[in-house]
Amino acid sequence: MIAVIKKNTTQEQIDHLTHWIEEQGVEVHASYGVDYTVLGLVGDTSKIDMELLDSLAIVDTVKRVSDPFKQCNRTFHPEDTVVEVGDVKIGGGNFAIIAGPCSVESREQMIAVAESVKAAGATLLRGGAFKPRTSPYDFQGLKADGIEYLLEAKKATGMPIVTEIMNANHLPLFEEVDVIQVGARNMQNFELLKELGKTKKPILLKRGLANTLKEFLMSAEYIMSEGNGNIILCERGIRTYETYTRNTMDISAIPLLHELSHLPVIADPSHATGKSRLVEPMAMASVAAGADGLMIEVHNDPAHALCDGAQSLTPDAFAHLAGKIGKLREIL
Ligand code: PEP
Ligand code: MN
Repeated sequence: MIAVIKKNTTQEQIDHLTHWIEEQGVEVHASYGVDYTVLGLVGDTSKIDMELLDSLAIVDTVKRVSDPFKQCNRTFHPEDTVVEVGDVKIGGGNFAIIAGPCSVESREQMIAVAESVKAAGATLLRGGAFKPRTSPYDFQGLKADGIEYLLEAKKATGMPIVTEIMNANHLPLFEEVDVIQVGARNMQNFELLKELGKTKKPILLKRGLANTLKEFLMSAEYIMSEGNGNIILCERGIRTYETYTRNTMDISAIPLLHELSHLPVIADPSHATGKSRLVEPMAMASVAAGADGLMIEVHNDPAHALCDGAQSLTPDAFAHLAGKIGKLREIL
């Protein structure tokens, strides 16, 4: 970390600041220029409150020169992490398609969608049992029954299942769930992240709707710092001023996350766009940008879906998309 000290600061003030920093176990190397003094902070600067330092009257600017995320950082772990879910691998050249309805609505729906997405080439089955809805009056999910129906669909098709957790108290219900999803709204639920870090389960971590990539990676760091390195990052669009789409899909996040981190990165064009006709082009763009997988919402009857029908593909449209993705990957 580097702190640039303002002009006309006295040596006594600089000594005072240096002492305060050193008290926190960090060495300070000062270089005196004609107008400005630059303090180089060396050591574990994670404990230094950067905003506080920046707010001091004698400080002009503060800059971090190393990333605050360590365990998910590619610098310290150059090879790609491959997350294994049963026989399915994600990352390091292994590509996975997660497909299924937004919410689990019934046993019959889950089994029918599972069979059709499997036949079209999906490798993991999704379905929300606990749903984070903007309105408390909207369908909240079938909860424990929803997980039960997912497990039945897993038994019928052999596909591992992915479903969202909203409360760490529900973890006992997730014992047989293969991948636990942390949704966009919970990306910074740090207590939940820490609890998931204590499990060995693969975690699908979605980017928050208004979060930077640094914040996203710090959330992955929360899980890793507790001992669980099985994390799949998911770009699902961020909120901007554009209203034609539900969110704005940040395709550049895919290659950037690969640059910054060794964790696999998948893309969710369904939540990113909110419109079924945009799902295929954005899925293609994500794969071209290097995504290690896709998460696609598929419903057997989108017009009557209890959640996110407008962005859900029919099984036929999904099969079409999966075929195109296969061809694109061959070219790539
Ligand atoms: C979902 O995957 O169903 C979901 C709620 O996604 P997000 O958290 O990205 O909105
Ligand atoms: Mn959804």
